Amino acid sequence: MTLSNRDLGEVAEVLMNEKPLPKFTDYTGTEITQLFGRCVQRQDLLEKIDPQQPAREWLFEDCKITPLPNGAADSLICQRYRELLELLRTSDDIGAWHWLGHWLKSENIRDPVKFFPEVVLKQLVQASDVSPADIRNARVVRIWLSYTEPLVRKIKWRRQGKQENPISQWETRAYDSDVVGLVNSKAWNSAEEFTSDWIAQWSGERKVKYQRETLVNSYSRCVANWWIRFTKCSFCRQHATAEFWMREENIPHCKEHSPDKLPELLIDAWPDRAGRRWWREGIDIYFTDSSTAK
Ligand SMILES: [Zn+2]
Repeated sequence: MTLSNRDLGEVAEVLMNEKPLPKFTDYTGTEITQLFGRCVQRQDLLEKIDPQQPAREWLFEDCKITPLPNGAADSLICQRYRELLELLRTSDDIGAWHWLGHWLKSENIRDPVKFFPEVVLKQLVQASDVSPADIRNARVVRIWLSYTEPLVRKIKWRRQGKQENPISQWETRAYDSDVVGLVNSKAWNSAEEFTSDWIAQWSGERKVKYQRETLVNSYSRCVANWWIRFTKCSFCRQHATAEFWMREENIPHCKEHSPDKLPELLIDAWPDRAGRRWWREGIDIYFTDSSTAK
């Protein structure tokens, strides 16, 4: 194919006007301190609910269908519709209600907890096969993971890179001093393990107390019985096996798409379902907004 002068002119114009790509990364500094406050507030709210009362909100609490941005490209909307059809076609009745609920919620059409018939919500809670106490414990862990997971992950990467100080100076200032002390005390196996320890330690002074082992067990039961069943990788069609957190959003992924394997260049970045692209520079994960989606 040969390009006319006009085509070449257009190409040149695009290249000349190209603006630096807006990119986003984890919270830093005061944003982290503010997130701590939000986690405390969320835990306070959760603890006001009777722990024996099955709370339905948690069924749709975790976003399983990332909302498409305003003005999403047609190709992205097409892809979303195709995926939704496939999910509904391949699901049993419980799965179909589950995906419908998440879709209604992600598109801001209805709140499934208010909209679905009582009998459907009861069936969904029953199908989850986890006790109300387990659900509450797992919800507390998930509240704090948005704060703790990025820190634990970065410290792990710094230790792997044999960096002398696994925690940076600004992190030491931004994070709660007890969190810093605990995270530095040993090499943690997982963010969930660290988070359970931290909640047990921190709640020692509070009205509602938690045992570390109970939190770990409740969390793994909720993941095994419910989370794994309905969580898809953000980057492919596989079931998710784990997740990382970015700005209070959980990013589920399969084994192939773990953050350890994120590409190091924007040009190789992984696209997610909402049209964002993800990569890693050193120990920092970056993403673009969806304006780069084709
Ligand atoms: Zn994947």
